[in-house]
Amino acid sequence: MAHKIGIIGFGKIAQDQHLPNIKANPDFELVAVASQRGLKPDEAKHAFQDYREMLKEVPEIEAVAICTPPQVRYQIAREALLAGRSVLLEKPPAATLSELYDLKLVADKVGRTVFTTWHAQYNKAVHEAKKALAGWEIKRLLVTWKEDVRHWHPGQEWIWQAGGFGVFDPGINALSIVTCIMPEPVFIQKADLQFPANRDAPIAANIQFSAAHGAADLQAVFDWRQTGPQTWDIEVETVQGLALALREGGTKLEIGGKLMVDEPSEEYAGIYQSFDTLLNERRSDVDDAPFRLVADAFMIGRRVQVEAFED
Ligand code: NAP
Repeated sequence: MAHKIGIIGFGKIAQDQHLPNIKANPDFELVAVASQRGLKPDEAKHAFQDYREMLKEVPEIEAVAICTPPQVRYQIAREALLAGRSVLLEKPPAATLSELYDLKLVADKVGRTVFTTWHAQYNKAVHEAKKALAGWEIKRLLVTWKEDVRHWHPGQEWIWQAGGFGVFDPGINALSIVTCIMPEPVFIQKADLQFPANRDAPIAANIQFSAAHGAADLQAVFDWRQTGPQTWDIEVETVQGLALALREGGTKLEIGGKLMVDEPSEEYAGIYQSFDTLLNERRSDVDDAPFRLVADAFMIGRRVQVEAFED
């Protein structure tokens, strides 16, 4: 039987990815949407403005996909779990690490599933990169994540507020690839976070990582002011001389300069396949590694004020 699911927060990602991927997956049936603005897709039998009403009025809902901004995710997820529903968390999974930790405890207590989704990890090129790097020692890492915030996040005020994470909203996608493919953990050693004078979240960041052992040159550069061609690249070199690059957000893999994987992104199809498995096996999947790096960058990062930014 298909899992009956509700969507909470019907913004860009819910419309662009969750709705079509739920529709395309016979293991799920969309039964309800909770949208503060009162949006209702044709596919949903029920629609509510208040997610609490949805949880109360539609008892057949087994799980909810929480597609709101991160600042409000914890409260909604906690209430859904306590109402006996499993939860799929968009990235970033919460506003703080402690909130995420608590969601895992609550899910275990009530015997429901909590699933932290890191969509960028669901690319074949990322899996192949992880396999290629397994067991090697890393000499160099360069993450370049530069995009145009006006193009990708028009009018999203929450992203500039404290807890919206600013440039780390896309940057966490890069970090989720890094934590997935690196054969050993990396740590934030130094971070310069550039805050526009009129904003509470950074527009750019330069990060230096350290490795668990050995000296290595490990860097990331995030920037939201890139117009023209957009860059979502991760380059890695091992001590033994293997050079690998993931390009275009993790959809292309080059090894030694040769293109090895070039496949269109089917990230959310993979997310819903995994969610089906977790629900069937009554398991949770809580991966906090990318989120810890973001928290550490904010914890030890140096704040630099840069010129004001208007949308
Ligand atoms: P968005 O377009 O601003 O949509 C978020 C929606 O959440 C809003 O449209 C609103 O929908 C609802 N919402 C806003 N404030 C709320 C509140 N206080 N309480 C409850 N619901 C609230 O943002 P988005 O781009 O879809 O991003 C949502 C999440 O998905 C973020 O965490 C983001 O990092 C992640 N994500 C985004 C993308 C992308 O390409 N945009 C990709 C992957 C992941 P209603 O009026 O319908 O309730």
